[in-house]
Amino acid sequence: MAKQTVGYVDLEWTCPNCGNRNPGTTIKCVTCGNPQPDTVQFETGASGELLTDQEKIARAQAGPDIACPYCGTRNLATAERCKQCGGELKGGEKREAGRVVGAYRPGAAPPIVCAACGTENPATATKCSNCGSPLGKPVAEPASKPARPAGRSLPRWLIPAVIGLIIVLCVGFFVAQSTRRSQDVAEVQGVQWQRRVLVQALIPVTRTDWLDQVPQDANVSKCNGRVRSVSPDPVPNSVEVCGTPYVVDTGTGVGEVVKDCEYQVSDSWCVYETLDWVAMPAVVAEGTDYNPHWPETILENNQKEAGREESYSVILSGDGETYRVPVRSLEELQKYQPGSRWRVEVNGFGGVVGVEPAQ
Ligand SMILES: [Zn+2]
Ligand SMILES: [Zn+2]
Ligand SMILES: [Zn+2]
Repeated sequence: MAKQTVGYVDLEWTCPNCGNRNPGTTIKCVTCGNPQPDTVQFETGASGELLTDQEKIARAQAGPDIACPYCGTRNLATAERCKQCGGELKGGEKREAGRVVGAYRPGAAPPIVCAACGTENPATATKCSNCGSPLGKPVAEPASKPARPAGRSLPRWLIPAVIGLIIVLCVGFFVAQSTRRSQDVAEVQGVQWQRRVLVQALIPVTRTDWLDQVPQDANVSKCNGRVRSVSPDPVPNSVEVCGTPYVVDTGTGVGEVVKDCEYQVSDSWCVYETLDWVAMPAVVAEGTDYNPHWPETILENNQKEAGREESYSVILSGDGETYRVPVRSLEELQKYQPGSRWRVEVNGFGGVVGVEPAQ
């Protein structure tokens, strides 16, 4: 993200001694004369108007103020000697800078009601026009919390614990059933086979892509502008998109108003029609004998064969149970002659896990 300076605004600070709000650039409380301690931070001021005072702007750009190593007084970054005690400022600590003070609010803040007498004062006032009491920051409306339903709620750990218990039980049941074994002697009732020829056809399909990625022979039907890339820095033919401006402490009592921007580059996103190979329904032959054959396949001139698949299975029936056992090849299938007897091993789910000749 590129940071852009929008301008500069006055900040202020609240005196911890008397509660008075002071302009950010003043180093001593205007009411009680207490110098601003290092620990007191700047806040957004009552006015959001951008400064035109070049002296203040130059001050903000010069860098954070320096605390005098002898008396602690804030001095300009450009000063060499403390304006309070005359001490050399070399080695003095710089004020904190770079902290986000808050959102930038252009224009004036809402009026402040005096806590002592109830008089409404403009946001820029630091003392009540009626009774002279120092005015604090305008109080933000308390956020309303959603009402909690009455009655006792369940303890937080209960639901995860119940879910965990259910998972453990399910896994346990699954392991128990899949490792459980029982045997049955079964007789071959018959066999089944299926052979499939996979077919693809070259037909028109609708696709979408960036214009420069569309195949040359394709038929483009429509395109729309769309953001293709986002750059943190300005690039040619881009649109600048910026976030809400906010105020950053410069350590001088003046805030820098900045916004984070990015640069969006748009391009044409298109819908086009082109020819492509698409899977068609397979041509299938099946039977219940020991002599499987491939189906007769008549291809049209926009079609091609895209592979062949075969599958075999044996039907065994035992003690009141019928098992359908897949077999890898035709050679294996031919071992299962009608009426031959086999020992079948079955797991807890009724799945066949092994077959051996019974004698
Ligand atoms: Zn004060
Ligand atoms: Zn000093
Ligand atoms: Zn008052």
